[in-house]
Amino acid sequence: MKNNLICVLIGAPGAGKGTQAKNVANYYNCKLISTGDILRENVENRTVLGLEAKKYIDNGNLAPAQIVVSMIKNVIKSSVENKAGADKSFLFDGFPRDLEQNKLFEQILDELNLSIKGVIYINIEDDIVYERLTNRRICPKCNRVYHLKFNPPKFDNLCDDCKVKLITREDDKIDVIKNRLEVYKQLTYPLIEYYRKKNKVVEINGNKNADDVLKDIISGINCAR
Ligand code: AMP
Repeated sequence: MKNNLICVLIGAPGAGKGTQAKNVANYYNCKLISTGDILRENVENRTVLGLEAKKYIDNGNLAPAQIVVSMIKNVIKSSVENKAGADKSFLFDGFPRDLEQNKLFEQILDELNLSIKGVIYINIEDDIVYERLTNRRICPKCNRVYHLKFNPPKFDNLCDDCKVKLITREDDKIDVIKNRLEVYKQLTYPLIEYYRKKNKVVEINGNKNADDVLKDIISGINCAR
């Protein structure tokens, strides 16, 4: 484990960020902060924040920056306050999502005297995004993720563990995927260019299998300055 390892995971929807985020956070023993997961949890629990965010998520748009940034600020600060000693390691999945959020993110890191070690950019092609997301099914009970062709459930459309009927995420419907990709290219991709100029980007080919992608990410982070 490294002290104060701050990494950001960026990639198009369907790039495999969620899967890799969990693996990488486990490997480095750092706290995983996934804004998509936190927002979906709020939607599920019908909190005020969740009800507001749902309108954006279901259409594939970004939730307002104020909501997301204050949510993140609380998670980081409470986590830092709870950590004894010098180790403050975080992996951010899905945040920052645009230059506006990034500006506020850098301010938060500055206040806490933290700096980014690497921005992991998982690069995949658009047709793979469509192929992955239109075939993705989720267990609504345990959130286990299936792919209808490459990782199908044992019994037709039922979770292997919970035996509950699998669902398609509202934002994995074709029109919404299209919009999410558009939003990604217009708003999120500029972050890659921003961090490239700072020599912080670790570019990973996301078209490989999950184990190989994880190996590439780990060696990329270990080499990052
Ligand atoms: P994800 O699971 O990261 O693909 O996020 C799913 C959806 O949650 C996105 O399409 C957005 O609507 C919302 N979302 C996640 N992270 C953010 C963020 N940092 N800022 C705004 N909206 C977000």
